[in-house]
Amino acid sequence: MMAGGASSGAVLVERRGGDPAGGPGGGERPGPAGGGTAYEVVIIGAGPAGYTAGVYCSRARRRTLILSGLLPGGQLVNTTEVENYPGFPKAVMGPDLMADMREQAKNSGASIVDEEAVNVDLRRRPFKVLTASEEYEADAVIIATGASPRKLGLDGEEALAGKGVSYCATCDGPFFRGAELAVVGGGDSAMEEATFLTKFASAVHVVHRRDELRASRVMQERARGNAKIRMHMSCEVKEIRGGGRVESVTLRSSRTGEESELRVGGVFVAIGHDPNTAMLGGQVETDGDGYVALRNGTAMTSVEGVFAAGDVHDRHYKQAVTAAGYGCMAALEADRHLTERRQKGA
Ligand SMILES: Cc1cc2nc3c(=O)[nH]c(=O)nc-3n(C[C@H](O)[C@H](O)[C@H](O)COP(=O)(O)OP(=O)(O)OC[C@H]3O[C@@H](n4cnc5c(N)ncnc54)[C@H](O)[C@@H]3O)c2cc1C
Repeated sequence: MMAGGASSGAVLVERRGGDPAGGPGGGERPGPAGGGTAYEVVIIGAGPAGYTAGVYCSRARRRTLILSGLLPGGQLVNTTEVENYPGFPKAVMGPDLMADMREQAKNSGASIVDEEAVNVDLRRRPFKVLTASEEYEADAVIIATGASPRKLGLDGEEALAGKGVSYCATCDGPFFRGAELAVVGGGDSAMEEATFLTKFASAVHVVHRRDELRASRVMQERARGNAKIRMHMSCEVKEIRGGGRVESVTLRSSRTGEESELRVGGVFVAIGHDPNTAMLGGQVETDGDGYVALRNGTAMTSVEGVFAAGDVHDRHYKQAVTAAGYGCMAALEADRHLTERRQKGA
């Protein structure tokens, strides 16, 4: 369901080194005895993509390390109910789902270290992945660092996250049946989210700070043609208000400075995402917005032996199940890549 603030503590967090080198060690490049820093596969990121990749790599008997970064479990630990992940007819709490995925990755044999990758060297082999305190070697790397939704940075936004403030209409729309909602943004995603939300909401107010939308013509026409959608152009959200839940937003006209109150039960922020790719230092090809570019229909990046999975490459779907699916693909491709390298004697 909804974002619930920074609740990453909901997932069991181990200290670095808590279970390193716990992998099966039955792969083709066993690390130093007693748990060293050389792995066949290093997975950067511990959301649905990273944990799924961890399960598949470990079950393929690859010595596997998952670096979980600052948010072990990924975006879903900031959520309450997840109703659309297959296998849970009565929904599942996001933190519970991610704790189970972590357990499954560990039980499969993956080592998990709760540290952030701060730098990588993908120019020569073995690849290197650096954290603040360690340098890991890897024969293959899977980037599964996700993409962070952009925030408005307003008073009330963080406090009401999960209590009416959302960053994902597909995920949370069904929880707002009959409510009046605001969507903030003017691009294609904002139009798509607004149109989708009309399935549930009694009215959807699109708030955009410019006098023209950035969305493509077809998306604009679809939104403008929807009787439930009302456009508030040249308007900024100044404040999100509410006690326990969102009750209203304060709008300010960027033309006149005039302020008005809009009573809504939810605010969907649709102003884009920032893929977490800074630590790659430009060594892997990305698109103009920083999403990792993949070779057609695969999880392969521009660097042979480096794969990507989940929201870090996916600007369209951004769902836990698609992230997990790509985690599986990346792991299978990494396994095949390592086998081929071995056959070539590399
Ligand atoms: C509030 C909210 C509610 C949502 N609800 C749903 C829902 O109900 N259903 C649904 O299907 N989807 C939902 N989503 C979307 C879903 O959470 C994402 O699509 C999914 O989590 C993406 O998975 P991922 O593994 O690609 O990335 P993420 O889950 O974002 O995980 C990224 C991981 O990478 C790690 N990381 C980042 N940088 C580094 C680094 N430098 N070093 C090491 N690790 C790093 C992070 O710590 C994190 O562990 C929701 C999203 C939000 C924000």
